[in-house]
Amino acid sequence: MESSPQIQPKPNYDQLACHECDLLVELSQFQEGSKACCPRCGYMLTAKHINAYQRVVAFSFSSLIFLFLSFLFPFLTFSAQGQERAVTLIQSISVMVDEGYISLAVVLFFVTVAFPLAYLLSIFYSYLSLSLVRPLRGTQSSLKLIGFLKHWSMAEIFLIGILVSFIKIASLAEVELGLSFWSFVLFILSMSAAIVHTDQHQAWSTLKQRLGFRGKRHSINLEHLGCHVCLTINEKDKGRCVSCDSVLHKRNKNSIQTTWALLITSIILYLPANFLPIMRTNFLGEETANTILGGVIVLWQHGSYPIALIIFIASVLVPVGKIVALGLLCLTAQGTTKTSKYQKAKLYRWTELVGRWSMVDVFVVAILVALIKLGNIMSIYPGAGALAFALMVIVTVLAAISFDPRLIWDEESE
Ligand SMILES: [Zn+2]
Ligand SMILES: [Zn+2]
Repeated sequence: MESSPQIQPKPNYDQLACHECDLLVELSQFQEGSKACCPRCGYMLTAKHINAYQRVVAFSFSSLIFLFLSFLFPFLTFSAQGQERAVTLIQSISVMVDEGYISLAVVLFFVTVAFPLAYLLSIFYSYLSLSLVRPLRGTQSSLKLIGFLKHWSMAEIFLIGILVSFIKIASLAEVELGLSFWSFVLFILSMSAAIVHTDQHQAWSTLKQRLGFRGKRHSINLEHLGCHVCLTINEKDKGRCVSCDSVLHKRNKNSIQTTWALLITSIILYLPANFLPIMRTNFLGEETANTILGGVIVLWQHGSYPIALIIFIASVLVPVGKIVALGLLCLTAQGTTKTSKYQKAKLYRWTELVGRWSMVDVFVVAILVALIKLGNIMSIYPGAGALAFALMVIVTVLAAISFDPRLIWDEESE
């Protein structure tokens, strides 16, 4: 006969290592509905939301349904000179294959469909499992997957891309937002509601408790290794985390060198991304090629100031700002210039948060290429700059991930 799982009573204290500065923090009497920030670097350590697991399950489930529905109908319908064309989510990707831009299609497929779907499924599965008395198989792996996929799911950026495309062509022809667009909006809203209620540390400690894992209370000045995945504190000679079995490392291996290499790669990609056309337009037999900056100037001249600004900020300012900020962090982490540690930590969080949004113009190109196909009357084709640009965004996201923010605080703790 199977014995029922031994549920440990929750201890009245909670110890964790800050994800960004590695400070050992003890929280006592941590109430539902409250959150805790790191006293040293200000990073939000953990939040205990009210009814978190039920809410996450409900929101992620409804989000999955809305995502499914958004595959079925057209996103945008476009008509000009008596011709009409509707485009679905899948078409905006498959058109790239027809145009011969297979690598761009692969990137688009992963960041707008595969990763958001996998992200949602792992959130749904993990939190469903955590709301049961006996956790389901594979809960550990699905919790780890959430941490990885959060950087690569770009569905909300795709939504902004649809809106920008809509406004861009509204002046040229009649465009209508289709049923799938509204379903996609609901998908993004429920997905964001689910994500807001998730918390890495709370999820792992619930899992540990369900599995009967008994943690040790550490003395607060002990030399420790904070697990990067579940924030559990491990003794310094441990190779793998006692609670989630992830490989422990004091700092990311060769963090600064890797970040530099990725930054240099992204600077190299930045050149073709900006000098090669991002798309080509054929209007009544006449072909014009647009670079990113050229597109911004045309929009500005036509009086579409908000869209011109969005594209300029997302495609020009953000990537340059991100590359400069990460370069600065690499330099100052090695201790050659002085900037306050707290500001550096904030700068790092900013680069992590905004970097992905540069992808918006690539999505706009994908949507326009799929939608505007009226032969010689008006057609839009992708340009080589779009692929270079998408790769540049991916490389800068990797650069932000490879930088270890704990390096900023190292001198202090030594
Ligand atoms: Zn901290
Ligand atoms: Zn761990």
